[in-house]
Amino acid sequence: MITIPKGTKDVLPADSYKWQFVENAAREVAAAFNIREIRTPVFEHTELFQRGVGETTDVVTKEMYTFEDKGGRSITLKPEGTAGAARMFIENGLANAPLPLKAFYITPCYRYERPQAGRLREFHQFGIEVFGTSAPEADAEVIFAASSFLKKLGINGTRLEINSIGCKSCRAEYNKALKDYFRPHLSEMCSTCNERFDKNPLRMIDCKEEKCKAITAGAPKILDYLCPDCRAHFERVKSLLDGLGVEYAVNPDIVRGLDYYTRTVFEFVSTSIGAQGTVCGGGRYDGLIAELGGGNVPAIGFAAGLERLLLLMDNTSVPFPEPPVPEIYLAGMDDETRARAFEIANSLRSRGIAAECDLMSRSVKAQFKYADKLGAKYVAVIGGSELESGSVNIKKMSDGTVKAVAFGDIYEFLEENN
Ligand code: ATP
Ligand code: MG
Repeated sequence: MITIPKGTKDVLPADSYKWQFVENAAREVAAAFNIREIRTPVFEHTELFQRGVGETTDVVTKEMYTFEDKGGRSITLKPEGTAGAARMFIENGLANAPLPLKAFYITPCYRYERPQAGRLREFHQFGIEVFGTSAPEADAEVIFAASSFLKKLGINGTRLEINSIGCKSCRAEYNKALKDYFRPHLSEMCSTCNERFDKNPLRMIDCKEEKCKAITAGAPKILDYLCPDCRAHFERVKSLLDGLGVEYAVNPDIVRGLDYYTRTVFEFVSTSIGAQGTVCGGGRYDGLIAELGGGNVPAIGFAAGLERLLLLMDNTSVPFPEPPVPEIYLAGMDDETRARAFEIANSLRSRGIAAECDLMSRSVKAQFKYADKLGAKYVAVIGGSELESGSVNIKKMSDGTVKAVAFGDIYEFLEENN
């Protein structure tokens, strides 16, 4: 048997309604914030992610699905959605469109990671990006959109943690302080931290190794190194969130896994899904568009992992809407009555009613059983006398009540009784 690749998952017919619920919630929230959908390719030139996500990140150094295509180009499956969105923004000259430009996407992402609960090799993100504004209102709006999305899903138990990692100029000061702090500890730290020490000491704060974490705990905090502009920006974001009634905690250790972030960074974290508790992460990336050759366009966004959200909803018994069921099952007894049931079912379908009938030449009893398994709300059996009278007894499965309805009135009956 050929099996599914490690770290990927099928969505089975019985479960897809859960995905649709989450995706519909995403679309509804986006619509309320006047955010339009974008779709970018699943693969891009590798260089986009090297430059966009950052050479020192885990994503680029260890996790990318990179291959050479038949034309000898280096291609990478998108590990996240922001770099592609930024490329699209630049390539299509959207800086000339009315700004800010607000976009959202629902996309598969690919990262070669060790699969575990909440960590897959193919996963899905709902993300929002707002291009062209450095205003703190945009930060608060994007955070509020993320929080509205979680609320719409019925998720209440997450904690919002925010931080500011400053701009280029405060980061330079901070990196110096970090290096002074880490230098005497380098021999006790992991090889990745040692590499990052020279290239990007901020990344060391993100190290998950216990021995490094212990040292990192005592490191200088970025919030003590913010320049006056970055400080004022952060204060304003916080007061806007206060005004919206959004609860948050400032966590000076959030630096996020991607290199492009500046100023505001944030995460929605859950304690109910194990070690991979971040269901949504985002932040400002004022330097990314310029880094990709697109001029000075500030931006901010977030991405939420849909598998983690679904896991969180399952683990904390957040109710999903009922799965879809047929409105009516029309059974037939022989070729003639089966044909009539088939006609009626299909004419109901043409009018938007979820109707079902037999495709297996089953006995009436077996059709009943199948209809019950499907959860059909009503069942009607068409036999010889029904053909003659032109009407059929429709049985309501939830309480067993029966009503005789003319063939031509079934649609109206279902409309009235649903
Ligand atoms: P983590 O610390 O969990 O590795 P990250 O910093 O790599 O997260 P981002 O790149 O910010 O995550 O991605 C945004 C969101 O996408 C995450 O908060 C998470 O919900 C989801 N996500 C990231 N990687 C995976 C994965 N391998 N499997 C499933 N979901 C993921
Ligand atoms: Mg990661």
